[in-house]
Amino acid sequence: MTAVVQAYQFALDPTPEQEAMLRSHCGAQRYAFNWGLARVKANLGQREAEKSYGLTADDLTPALSWSAWSLRNDWNQAKTGVAPWWAENSKEAYAGGLANLAAGLANWKDSRSGQRKGPKVRFPRFKGKRAGLSCRFTTGAFGLAGAGRRHGQLPRIGVIRTHESTRKLARRLDAGTARICSAVVSFRRGRWLVSFSVEITRQDPAAVHPTGVVGVDLGIKSLAVLSTGEVVPNPRHLEAAQRDLRRLQRQAARRHGLDKRTKAVPSAGWRKTQARIARLHAKVACARRDGLHKLSAQLTSTYGTVVVEDLNVAGMMSNRRLARHVAGVGMAEFRRQVAYKAAWRGGRAAVADRWFPSSKTCSGCGAVKAKLRLSERTFICGQCGLVLDRDLNAALNLAALVSSRSWRVTENEPGGNPCKTGTRLAAGTATGRPLCRSTPCREATAHDTLSHVS
Ligand SMILES: [Zn+2]
Repeated sequence: MTAVVQAYQFALDPTPEQEAMLRSHCGAQRYAFNWGLARVKANLGQREAEKSYGLTADDLTPALSWSAWSLRNDWNQAKTGVAPWWAENSKEAYAGGLANLAAGLANWKDSRSGQRKGPKVRFPRFKGKRAGLSCRFTTGAFGLAGAGRRHGQLPRIGVIRTHESTRKLARRLDAGTARICSAVVSFRRGRWLVSFSVEITRQDPAAVHPTGVVGVDLGIKSLAVLSTGEVVPNPRHLEAAQRDLRRLQRQAARRHGLDKRTKAVPSAGWRKTQARIARLHAKVACARRDGLHKLSAQLTSTYGTVVVEDLNVAGMMSNRRLARHVAGVGMAEFRRQVAYKAAWRGGRAAVADRWFPSSKTCSGCGAVKAKLRLSERTFICGQCGLVLDRDLNAALNLAALVSSRSWRVTENEPGGNPCKTGTRLAAGTATGRPLCRSTPCREATAHDTLSHVS
């Protein structure tokens, strides 16, 4: 039994009145966010100016607290004055906006002081009307409603019909294995959605072959080649939609669009075409996600151990000839799915080190080639004469990696840059050598560090 937090998202079919209320709540969240940000900025600016006049720290205007709690207190004091219409929306809308602001400010501060890893976080900016609409509810009456399993409920807005059946979540709620923690409504690609954050106690059956190991070589030509010899074709959803997409983009170019310089208002036709383009992209994204979920579910329910490569997706995306195709596969997403689905079933997901030469190594004798062109689709070993499909050879090497342990394998580690995650850094400093990303330092990776994370 594992307790996890999962999201259940349903498309909504609100009535026009309900849609107006949804928009109002999202606007209220944005208003509170901007109100709080303006106050924080004014306070910071005032203190900065006072410092420049040479005032001592005691004489400065006191600093404003950024915690969600105090922002909320300040809002409650000021709301009747600044927003006399506040009672039209649930208080959760304002609280959510201020909580988002507090989180954004904390992230910026931690990033600036070096306490937060990853790319630099900018200071929060005001949200414009075109910002994505969303609103979070953490308290109040929300959840599923009605016996027909076609309705959701939100505070103040009431019971809204869902576009799809809610049975998957309803069954869990009936069985008492799920608890809804929060609800987020959002408007994405022309559709209102509700996403419930749910605490679930899962009991997934173990894999069919708990001791079985499968190596997965992800690629562009075929989506995946398994060490069992099975080839999963790349459905290339984006390429299939490319013809329609080009036609729509030509159509949009002929219509009067948005122009920031002349402040021209886009025409209704342009808006319609843009909505169509967004819908097409959404369709492609959904189809891609569906395929990846099916593959990762099939692999983790069949094999106890799934070995994937740690591909430098960001690096490949910077190659403009590869970028579209790499993005079209969703390799990083696949690795993320395999990691959490394997953990659900008590299995393992192993990620081979980025510098492991899976393609250049002979799966028969272990000899490593110095060079292997991307155009060489068949692997021919100079030592033992093995002739094998290139991707199958790589998949076999990955599968053999778990037992050989000669290279670093990280288990059940969620996605992200491995050089920036805690476990890798800890392992790197333990050996006394800093891990570097730019050079394939063999000594640093030759240690046997099969670390269990989960
Ligand atoms: Zn060989």
